Amino acid sequence: MTVKYNHVTDDVVKKLVNICGEKYVTTSEPLRHSYMARGIMGLEAVLPEAIVRPENAQQVSEILVVANENLIPVTPAAGGLSGGFALPAIEPGGIYMDMTRMNRLQVDVENRVMIVEPGLKSGDAWRIFKTKYPEWAPPIPDGAPPAATVLGDAIERGFSLVTGVYGPQADMIMGLEVVLPSGKIFRTGSWALDGAKPYYRWGPGPNPDGLFLGSQGSMGIITKAAIKLIPHPHFKTVVAYGGKNWDDIIIPTWEVSKHEMGIAEHTVMVQGGNWPLVMTRWPKSNVPVDYDFYKKIGISEYWMNYEIWAWTEEELEYTKKRIDEIYKSYEVKANTECPQWKLHPRQIASRLKKPNKIAISYSLWEAGFLFITWYTPWLESARMMEEYCAKMEEYGFPPTMWVASIDHGRQAIVMPILCFDSTEPGIYDKIREFNLETTRSFLKKGWLNYSPDPFVHAPETFARTPEYYDMLVKFRKVLDPNLILHPGRLAIPWEAVTDLPNPIKDGN
Ligand SMILES: Cc1cc2nc3c(=O)[nH]c(=O)nc-3n(C[C@H](O)[C@H](O)[C@H](O)COP(=O)(O)OP(=O)(O)OC[C@H]3O[C@@H](n4cnc5c(N)ncnc54)[C@H](O)[C@@H]3O)c2cc1C
Repeated sequence: MTVKYNHVTDDVVKKLVNICGEKYVTTSEPLRHSYMARGIMGLEAVLPEAIVRPENAQQVSEILVVANENLIPVTPAAGGLSGGFALPAIEPGGIYMDMTRMNRLQVDVENRVMIVEPGLKSGDAWRIFKTKYPEWAPPIPDGAPPAATVLGDAIERGFSLVTGVYGPQADMIMGLEVVLPSGKIFRTGSWALDGAKPYYRWGPGPNPDGLFLGSQGSMGIITKAAIKLIPHPHFKTVVAYGGKNWDDIIIPTWEVSKHEMGIAEHTVMVQGGNWPLVMTRWPKSNVPVDYDFYKKIGISEYWMNYEIWAWTEEELEYTKKRIDEIYKSYEVKANTECPQWKLHPRQIASRLKKPNKIAISYSLWEAGFLFITWYTPWLESARMMEEYCAKMEEYGFPPTMWVASIDHGRQAIVMPILCFDSTEPGIYDKIREFNLETTRSFLKKGWLNYSPDPFVHAPETFARTPEYYDMLVKFRKVLDPNLILHPGRLAIPWEAVTDLPNPIKDGN
């Protein structure tokens, strides 16, 4: 590789122990492997050589100085549940910085902001708010396991439980505290001013926070974030409608969402899928694999859920009524059928439970599962899902598809879930081929991958956005001249990840 790193030596381990204490540094092989076990969204990962668990920003800064002096790569991770994204992508694996000890939370209901450290888990944030601040809710990821963190989700620009209204989780940021690879600590937004509150995101000048959100830890280590709180009304329900094709759920949702004010403000989480999404959540041997069974129990081939939050019973009823009217009028216009899916109270309760654990069970179908995620303009998502499902079937995967509305149906996040047998010979090559074929087709249509594979989505995308990629590499080199932070799955720069020819420069 053009970028050469050093191994973690005994001397480096001693320095890390001096910074964090013996208890918080380990090179134990089983422990290092236990971190790898969390990778489910990225397939490539390298075993870290040492795990270190800092307690505060000062320790983070000192660790980065040691890493810089010794040219050792560093990978920050919070819950590690964004999958392979929080694992080193380069050889040697270097230092894995586990941020979970830094888990403090400060709540300021007056300014409607909370300050979180990277280790604050979604489950804990939800529990604390439920008991101490029931009028407010922390924007936590809707379906991630409770051990996923609030900040990890913001760094990933994930989708929170109110994403349908507020946009991706990174849109909730009001300020960041970042430790740069040089060890320097700085803040963004109004927070940059000594003593000021994080009340104004754009700060004293152009705001650099976007360089860190979505960077997968490759630009700097975030040690605090100020994140908006959201009001938490308690009249809630979930309604669901079916359809005969993707348009039948995508177009009525656009009608519900596009006016933005009114009922759209109450539909905080809008998500849907197809019947294999139901089927593949159970062990393969325990459920019928043909649609007839699901039809009999009232599950449409395609369906959309609307989670509604309202201040009063009247507001809740009105929202339900309007959604129903919109579907009825769409049925007439499109000459189709969109039956309401009568959810059992237990289904509603399980949807409303946060963090809900609905997404955890895909590995029951087969040992392997991989989330692949894309952004499209909302109305184009139906075409993408049609094409995706056809390709999944062609490659022998069940066409398991999930979709959610982001910011009043401005964008869709489309997520096929590949359920596969990880012991099947050649399966990983097959997945890569599938990813390559779909990625090439989707990029031509202007759709963007959100959780890239470093050897497929990242180079394929950046080959089509060379100026953008050049800028990212330049920014990264300014912030991290020795490139000690892991390059993430974005592969910025490519030379830090592999010796293979650079497809971004050479064209493909
Ligand atoms: C079953 C399942 C369901 C999921 N459902 C959802 C969902 O509903 N919505 C959703 O948005 N996501 C979902 N996810 C994805 C993921 O769990 C969330 O995005 C999660 O919040 C990520 O947080 P984390 O603490 O696990 O982050 P990590 O994986 O630890 O980190 C995320 C990224 O940020 C980097 N990083 C971590 N800490 C720092 C730091 N302090 N400074 C700089 N960089 C850092 C890491 O290197 C990594 O690239 C799901 C995942 C699973 C496994």
